[in-house]
Amino acid sequence: MTTVIQAYRFALDPTPRQRRALASHCGAARVAYNWGLEFVQARLDQRQNDPSVQISWTLPALRREWNQAKQQVAPWWAENSKEAYSSGLDGLARALKNWTDSRSGRRKGRPVGFPHRKRKGRCRDTCRFTTGAIKILPDRTHIQLPRIGILKTHESTRKLARRLERGTARVLAATISRTADRWFVSFTVQVDRSTPARNGETSVVGVDAGIRHLATLSTGATIPNPRALQHSLRKLRRLNRQLARRTPGSSRRKQTRRRLARVYARAANLRRDALHKLTTTLATQHSTVVVEQLNLAGLVRNRHLARALADASLAELRRQLTYKTSWYGSQLIVADPFYPSSKTCSACGWVKAKLTLAERTFTCEVCGLGIDRDLNAARNLATLAQHVAQSGWETQNARGADRETQSAGQVALKWEPSSQELQQAQAGTVGA
Ligand SMILES: [Zn+2]
Repeated sequence: MTTVIQAYRFALDPTPRQRRALASHCGAARVAYNWGLEFVQARLDQRQNDPSVQISWTLPALRREWNQAKQQVAPWWAENSKEAYSSGLDGLARALKNWTDSRSGRRKGRPVGFPHRKRKGRCRDTCRFTTGAIKILPDRTHIQLPRIGILKTHESTRKLARRLERGTARVLAATISRTADRWFVSFTVQVDRSTPARNGETSVVGVDAGIRHLATLSTGATIPNPRALQHSLRKLRRLNRQLARRTPGSSRRKQTRRRLARVYARAANLRRDALHKLTTTLATQHSTVVVEQLNLAGLVRNRHLARALADASLAELRRQLTYKTSWYGSQLIVADPFYPSSKTCSACGWVKAKLTLAERTFTCEVCGLGIDRDLNAARNLATLAQHVAQSGWETQNARGADRETQSAGQVALKWEPSSQELQQAQAGTVGA
């Protein structure tokens, strides 16, 4: 039995009054965040002239300062739960910690800048509750939050409710958030799970996530997009073209923007649900699942809708597989970002110099293989599992290594096998 932290997210059906209360709490969190940021900034400026000025930006310190200032800054503070202000200050404390850790080299990854002000309409509306009346009501269609009260959920809460009733789960926090025009609540839950060491399967499966299909497996199976998702994707493409034609700053552009956000949110939900079914099957019916690594830096600034959607799909696939493989006793291998899974011939190992997104078929100039692009990629990923097994690399899994062990040295090693070694590996995994 292991204890894991798990999130349960439900769409809400709030009344108009409750909508206002939800928005008010998110606004309150933002006000506290911005106030704290100004406060810290002012102290930092003071310290420029006077090094003896003390600043502390831990959550308790910020909260103390806020409680002294709130009557002045936000005389209406009593309208919202105190958790709202605490939530905003908590976000700020984390952002400031990330900034200092990044500056002093304690934090890996890209440098983190000094936090920015949050602007209404530009930032994500969210607020976190950690204390007070946070409940999942026994009727399985309502939840309760401090100050906001009893809210109707759009879908049944039975999965979480059952766990709570059996005593195998404990709610630690609840976070409300808005996506497009829809409100959600996400419960952070401590869950006791029995996790097997191995699921007893022996097969390896490579998965290539896409947008034309939900996924292509190295076994040759193609998982189609659900019909509703296909429909949303078509709508999304149309609205995106429409947006490009609208005059910047016009009200019609704003309207298209809002519509686009709604359709995007719906597509993301449909895809997430479909991926949940797929990832459960993958994690329970195979011993090893191999996926591509996501290029996170490229993900942020990609203007191409198709690429952006495929990346989002891959990110979600990986996220789900990371925890499900550990729940169900399989292992997850993540190929390094430079592994040319699409450009490599899955039969002979030849690497094509350039493969555009439009090319749906991979044609090998050496051995003459003509194969669906996605299937080729999925097979290459499955092959990679052999390399990992041979070299004893740790896999990305809850019980394996964490991301930090994927250092640059291993990454380079991972994709420079001799051609002989490659042939051996292929003979072992990918059948004709
Ligand atoms: Zn070939």
